[in-house]
Amino acid sequence: MKRVYNFSAGPSMLPTAVLEKAQQELLGYQSSGMSVMELSHRSSLYTEVITQAEQLLRDLMNIPDNYKVLFIQGGASQQFAMVPMNLLTGSGKVDIVNTGSWSKKAIKEAKKYGQVRVIASSEDKNFTYIPHVDRSMFDPEADYVHITTNNTIEGTAFREIPDTGKVPLVADMSSNILSEEIDVSKFGLIYAGAQKNIGPAGLTVVIIREDLIGKASETCPTMLDYKTHSNSGSLYNTPPTFAIYMAKLVFEWLTNRGGIAAMEKINEEKANLLYDYIDGSAFYESPVQKDSRSIMTIPFVIPARDLDATFISHAQANGLETLKGHRSVGGMRASIYNAMPIEGVHALVDFMKEFEDQNS
Ligand SMILES: *Cc1c(COP(=O)(O)O)cnc(C)c1O
Repeated sequence: MKRVYNFSAGPSMLPTAVLEKAQQELLGYQSSGMSVMELSHRSSLYTEVITQAEQLLRDLMNIPDNYKVLFIQGGASQQFAMVPMNLLTGSGKVDIVNTGSWSKKAIKEAKKYGQVRVIASSEDKNFTYIPHVDRSMFDPEADYVHITTNNTIEGTAFREIPDTGKVPLVADMSSNILSEEIDVSKFGLIYAGAQKNIGPAGLTVVIIREDLIGKASETCPTMLDYKTHSNSGSLYNTPPTFAIYMAKLVFEWLTNRGGIAAMEKINEEKANLLYDYIDGSAFYESPVQKDSRSIMTIPFVIPARDLDATFISHAQANGLETLKGHRSVGGMRASIYNAMPIEGVHALVDFMKEFEDQNS
């Protein structure tokens, strides 16, 4: 089976070794005589799976003991509502940094539950940079501050995590969790949909400081209260068992490759390869300001002529899939998450050179 290089923003590539391991174990997981998909979520074998998944993630990210790891459903989009339902219950005020389409959705949803202040925005330049934020801008009374660390559509990323003082910092890390080392203790809550850099769709990971659990209002639905998932070890109801198992395999793969520090080095190397080529070329251009560039999400355009559709179809014919930019931005976008091997980025750059030669 020939596998393509898939540059999709999500669901995205999974490591081949992980898929092979899942294939080996698909019909019979260990001694059970059944697939993980068929195992009771209360069985001892499955308890091992979910416990190990959590421990591996804790070790990879150095998650402090006063944080809970929750495996839930509903995607990152559900967190846009769940975060305010659980945290916007003190002063009812929240400060949000608007860095793109996903931030806007977080803002829209939070407005249903309290008073939202957009303290900085890059909308004036089509979200091509990360606006300056510092401590003096935050309302000390706010229940939390919300940022989107990596903007999956626009290709920007916070290179530095803002210091919010005593106000808890909440981060949508869907498209850059596990891509670089971060200090979890700087955050009150981190959430990420799994389908970008963790595993298959259907799972959402929430990392939450314990003192932020139990603040939801009386009317908060049980399933949307972090306390429910925290008190039950993410087993209040049936969790997405197979997605958690796959995430565990990905965490093992990351651990075997040297953990996040090692991945960060490779990710930077991959991003530099692509950016160095784009910056050196008179044919392609990056819409993103240099100091705000993501190492996971790399959009690029061909300014001279409308060649996007040709580029995308020729790339596809060369085994380079899903390079079309998001409809709100246009152009091309290469998502190069952990599972994209450096060979894939070399293949993309080689193709881009060839395409440039043929069309300029
Ligand atoms: C993909 C993505 C989302 C939406 O995730 P779903 O799991 O599809 O709800 C939200 N935020 C960011 C930053 C994303 O990349």
